[in-house]
Amino acid sequence: MKPVIALVGRPNVGKSTLFNRLTRSRDALVADLPGLTRDRHYGEGRVGERPFLVIDTGGFEPVAKEGIMFEMAKQTKQAVVEADIVIFIVDGRQGLTPHDKTITDFLRKSGRSVMLVVNKAEGMKYTSVTADFYELGLGDPYVISAAHGDGVADLVDEALDIALAQRPDLGEEVDVARGIKIAIVGRPNVGKSTLVNTLLGEERVIAFDMPGTTRDSIEIPFERDGKQYTLIDTAGIRRRGKVFEAIEKFSVVKTLQSISETNVVLLLLDAQQDISEQDAHIAGFVLESGRALVVGVNKWDGLQSDRRDEIKMDLERKLSFLSFAKFHFISALKSTGIGPLMKSIDSAYAAAMSNLTTPKLTRALIEAVEHQQPRRKGSIRPKLRYAHQGGMNPPIVVIHGNALEGVDDSYKRYLEKHFRETFSLVGTPLRIEFRSSK
Ligand code: GDP
Ligand code: GDP
Repeated sequence: MKPVIALVGRPNVGKSTLFNRLTRSRDALVADLPGLTRDRHYGEGRVGERPFLVIDTGGFEPVAKEGIMFEMAKQTKQAVVEADIVIFIVDGRQGLTPHDKTITDFLRKSGRSVMLVVNKAEGMKYTSVTADFYELGLGDPYVISAAHGDGVADLVDEALDIALAQRPDLGEEVDVARGIKIAIVGRPNVGKSTLVNTLLGEERVIAFDMPGTTRDSIEIPFERDGKQYTLIDTAGIRRRGKVFEAIEKFSVVKTLQSISETNVVLLLLDAQQDISEQDAHIAGFVLESGRALVVGVNKWDGLQSDRRDEIKMDLERKLSFLSFAKFHFISALKSTGIGPLMKSIDSAYAAAMSNLTTPKLTRALIEAVEHQQPRRKGSIRPKLRYAHQGGMNPPIVVIHGNALEGVDDSYKRYLEKHFRETFSLVGTPLRIEFRSSK
């Protein structure tokens, strides 16, 4: 599991600036996706080889009793609870404020490890920029410039060391997985635990008896139609009994953890409810992760046929950015549609792991270009010469040639569609990168 870092501090101290710096590499990948509202409060980052999740908590006004500030404070508290380590940011140019003290009190009560970080410290002396903040009683402050990047990598390294020292389980991979790893994600009440029960069925007993698995294990191996799978259950949906149904809150962090541990994401939607902003957010996380995806539209039982048509249209409109994935209309309760759903999971995984050779890719590329040329940009027409596979899961197609920066988005989409069709890549995102030689 990835360590979770929460960024906390009053407004304007530089939290989003730091957040963007920590997650920047991923931003570029999703910047041009149409129709996707993204929750910029959660992201994945990496220093060196070490991955982590980071939560940006927005502004924190712990004194607010209602309204937007109250809501933000509530979210901050949830983030602190879910974090392994809190990075508490203060503003080195402004110095200590009463608000910083209130936040310190709150953090102290939370019992979480806190690193005090003085931001905006570029060009300033350590002793002068930190002097004010010793009063908070949080020890020697770390000093960074989020805007310039000074001290950021060291800070995160240190944060991860602290997180791992507390929870050694975070780092080590206790991998009992067999077969394809599946994570079922979706908002509360869409039917996740019902589906888990349906999938595990009698296999449940066997799953618990396997070495390395316990009742609290997040990896639950199971078998279906003679094939091995492993359910990744970071959110604890399997353990959730009826009693907890109402109080179990949705956790973005746990959802992100599940997604990052898995091979294939099974996104579950509720056909008897409108597609919500929360559904779209979760879908956005999946897309950003690059994981293979199958969508289960659950509670398909007991719907009139015209209602079903309406739902399908609504799905196409709101989740058009998931058109690479297969949609299955199922009932977890009645156990209908599950066989084909599992087949799609198999094929999505196979697609994500496709091995595309350079000759095959180049042939497909030439075919695509012969059929339709890229538009000229100014007087220059981009020249696409050959392609090789730059990665798996998701497959990355790297196209080489000249003046490729002139290739427009619609042509990029055309190429993606062509590669998808040529290599039957259903159920996995496909990334296309261009590499120009002079
Ligand atoms: P947030 O409200 O805590 O998320 O703060 P922002 O990230 O939006 O930053 C608030 C302001 O501080 C912006 O104008 C940033 O450009 C600026 N800022 C952030 N980091 C630094 C820094 O390291 N140095 C300086 N000089 N300004 C910074
Ligand atoms: P979770 O919060 O996503 O784990 O959802 P649950 O599995 O707890 O299901 C929420 C509610 O939806 C329960 O009352 C289930 O009985 C019901 N439910 C789950 N799957 C189906 C289904 O396929 N059809 C119908 N009609 N109800 C379902």
